[in-house]
Amino acid sequence: MSEKKTLPLHSELPVDKTWDIAVIYKDIAAWEAEFATIGELLDNAIAFKGRLGESAATLADAFRTCDKLNRVIEKTYTYAHLLSDEDTSISSHRALVDRASARYADISGELSWFEPELLALPDTRFQEYLAAPELQFYHRTLTEIARSKPHTLSDKEERLLGLASDVLGSSSKTFSLFNNADLKFPVIANEKGEELELTHGNYINFMESHVRDVRKNAFCALYDTYSRFRNTLSSTLFGEIKTHAFSAKIRNYPSSLEAALHGDNVPVAVYDNLISTVHHNLPALFKYFGVRAKAMKLEKIDMYDVYNPLVPECRTEVTWEQACKWVREALKPLGDDYCAKLDNAFKQRWIDVMECRGKRSGAYSSGCYDTFPYVLLNFTGTLSDVFTLAHELGHSMHSFYSREAQDYHYADYRIFVAEVASTTNELLLHNYLLNHNKDKNFRLYLLNHHCDQFRGTIYRQTMFAEFEKLIHEKVENDIPLTADLLCEEYYNLNRKYHGDNVEPDQRINMEWSRIPHFYYDFYVYKYATGLSAAAELSRNILSGDQAKLNAYLGFLKAGDTKDVLNIMKDAGVDLSTPKPIDAALSEFSATVDQLAAEL
Ligand SMILES: [Zn+2]
Repeated sequence: MSEKKTLPLHSELPVDKTWDIAVIYKDIAAWEAEFATIGELLDNAIAFKGRLGESAATLADAFRTCDKLNRVIEKTYTYAHLLSDEDTSISSHRALVDRASARYADISGELSWFEPELLALPDTRFQEYLAAPELQFYHRTLTEIARSKPHTLSDKEERLLGLASDVLGSSSKTFSLFNNADLKFPVIANEKGEELELTHGNYINFMESHVRDVRKNAFCALYDTYSRFRNTLSSTLFGEIKTHAFSAKIRNYPSSLEAALHGDNVPVAVYDNLISTVHHNLPALFKYFGVRAKAMKLEKIDMYDVYNPLVPECRTEVTWEQACKWVREALKPLGDDYCAKLDNAFKQRWIDVMECRGKRSGAYSSGCYDTFPYVLLNFTGTLSDVFTLAHELGHSMHSFYSREAQDYHYADYRIFVAEVASTTNELLLHNYLLNHNKDKNFRLYLLNHHCDQFRGTIYRQTMFAEFEKLIHEKVENDIPLTADLLCEEYYNLNRKYHGDNVEPDQRINMEWSRIPHFYYDFYVYKYATGLSAAAELSRNILSGDQAKLNAYLGFLKAGDTKDVLNIMKDAGVDLSTPKPIDAALSEFSATVDQLAAEL
């Protein structure tokens, strides 16, 4: 914290390195004025209650009225959170965020009758609506709603479930409070001999240390701590998985997995295909661990020898101007239209660049239909900051294209595709930097970074996905998730994904207990499919084939107008086949060879 005191205030930063949010509202008074209109917009939407069955024109009107309301609440929320993130210590700005979020919750409660009312319409009426010219634009929304009909229960049952949802969520809430608030880790010495309390946030710094004992001590301290709570943590995870199994069962899904994939209309075969294709490609991962072992002059590596960079990050500081130049050059293969739009990010000031006092940490891309797709950074001039810039601009350009091409109603793309454009940009940057640098250390850093990205995102997340599937199946077969069972299954799976060049410390069998994503219901596989897709798309873009580039730009414009698998297919990636995953992991394998050769 003492270091932060020397940072400037947001208002003291050079204007060209701050985002321009005054174009959303010129001041808080303007925000208040628009925020005050929400009550009337909400009343207009509520007035449709009980009228959705009247006529196709009425329903179309209801959709438009709800969209109008949502646009305004999103815009007020966006401004409030961007303003507050500039300096999180300003409580009057924080209060705007709280008011906007409370209004959001309010609105979704007040309009919760909408879908059930549509689903309760007689089938003949619904079919008429699907064919009605007035509703042609909303055809996809209507079919999406209809798809949920077999899984929707009676009014009474839905009401009960709604009331019980808070109780059903308590395992995950308990885990989150325990893990984030109550759990404390020991004090560990870093490589400079400084004693630091181990935290979730700094654990990765210890794991990236070049001193093996520092890594080992942190690893042991972390897992010995978790191990002391193994029964509590197996109980919270068991409770959560039972909740998934319970709601899948009562909603007529054959399994928790099918229930979780239903929202995106993704068949279970896609999930299974990911796991089996990664299995086939495990030898490349084993080879990578062999390269690590050799580079570290170890016979075998341990679980705490996986994250430390094999070459120290190039110390050369990258200026903001240099970072922007690299990213712009790297993205040139995306064509003139993309580059011209990308220029707006700088000219119109979408990006808040510098660290400053009280600024929200990390990086993100955020905005809504009626604002720029803003980017928050805490740029300090490391190479990884340059990758972050490319990544976040990938999100922002995806949002920009979708919003420009689509009506508000279909402009938001889904989580399933959300990381594709951002990682595609990272891969293009990697390719550019590798082709334009002869410095050995710089190249090694890039190759190592690339390997770790594929290892962490495709292999590791697929291992998690496989574990999730396994524990859900256990629960569906009435097998209780005890701490012993979870540790044993996790350890075996971890062995399967690490091969003979890794001799894992037994403590890794507790890793399941600290992964919050296991409470998110089959979420992590999307990271693995996303990077596999990005790898194929970046190769397509670099091929120079105009048709392939157009297909990619089509993906950026697609928003939520089609099912995610069709969006990806039209972009050039068929995730129902092993091909994209195979190809991504061949690319990984080739990079490992290159790294081994250059080391
Ligand atoms: Zn991202």
